[in-house]
Amino acid sequence: MFNDNTEETIEIMRECNLLASKALAEVARMVAPGITTLDLDKVAEQYIRDHGAEPGFKGYGGFPNTLCTSVNSQVVHGIPSSYVLRSGDILSVDCGVKMKGYYGDTAYTYAVGEVSEKIAELMLVTYEALYKGIEQAIAGKRVGDIGNAIQQHAEKAGFTVVREMVGHGLGKNLHEKPEIPNYGKRGRGVLLKKGMVLCIEPMINLGSKGIVQEADGWTIRTKDNQPSAHYEHAVVVDREKADILSSFKYIEEVLINKNMGLPWQNKKP
Ligand code: MG
Ligand code: MG
Repeated sequence: MFNDNTEETIEIMRECNLLASKALAEVARMVAPGITTLDLDKVAEQYIRDHGAEPGFKGYGGFPNTLCTSVNSQVVHGIPSSYVLRSGDILSVDCGVKMKGYYGDTAYTYAVGEVSEKIAELMLVTYEALYKGIEQAIAGKRVGDIGNAIQQHAEKAGFTVVREMVGHGLGKNLHEKPEIPNYGKRGRGVLLKKGMVLCIEPMINLGSKGIVQEADGWTIRTKDNQPSAHYEHAVVVDREKADILSSFKYIEEVLINKNMGLPWQNKKP
C-alpha cells in the first residue's frame, strides 16, 4: 500500500526527512577541495546515529555506506571513496535515514569550489525542475503530470532526463509504489491521492540521456561522461499544495555562511 499513511506516520516521516536534511547540512559544512567523499560519509553516519536513527542506505540491497556520493558524470548511487574533491567538481549527495520504522530520503548537488557556467546552469535547472515537479504533486493529478513538468523544464534548457532511474513512494520501505519518472505525459499514470508520500528526484544530464553502471555494481554514470545533477525532496500529496517533508533550508544556511553559493547564485549573469 502506498496511501495508508496517517497523520502520525507522516509526522514520523517528517522527522526522518528533517534529520536526513540536517545530515546533508553537516555534509555542506565539509564540502571543499581536498576532502574525500568517504570523509563526508563518516560525518553523516555519525550525525545520524547521534540523533537516534540509522543510516537508511547502509546495507540496503547490500549498499556499503551511509551516503551516495556521485561526482561529475556519476548520476546516482556513487560509493563514498578516497576520491579527493577538486574545484570544479559537482557532487550529488543522497542521504537516507531510518527511524521508528520509517524512512527519510533527500539529495542535494553541491558545487565544489568554482564550477563552469554550464554546470552552474545544469544545477539551477535541475533544482528548478524539482520544484516544478513538486507543484504537480496535488491530489487529483497523476504521476505523469509530475514527470512532464520536470521533463519540459529540463529539455527547454537543452538538458536531458535520465529515464532508467526514477523517484518513488516512501514509507516503511525506502522504495515503495508508485514509481515517479522524471518524464511523462500529462494526465497519465497513477492517480495522486492526499496523504501519499513521494520522493521526487530529477536526475538531469548536461549531454545525452544514456547511462551505464560502473563495474562496482552500484554507481550509475552518464554514457557520454558529461556531468549530471540530482536533487530530491520527500513530499506529501495534498489538495492545494504538496507538503515538503525534507528541507534544503539547513544546507543553504551553511552554503550562504561559507560563501559557497546556491545553485541559482553560481550562475553568472
Ligand atoms: Mg535519495
Ligand atoms: Mg529516493
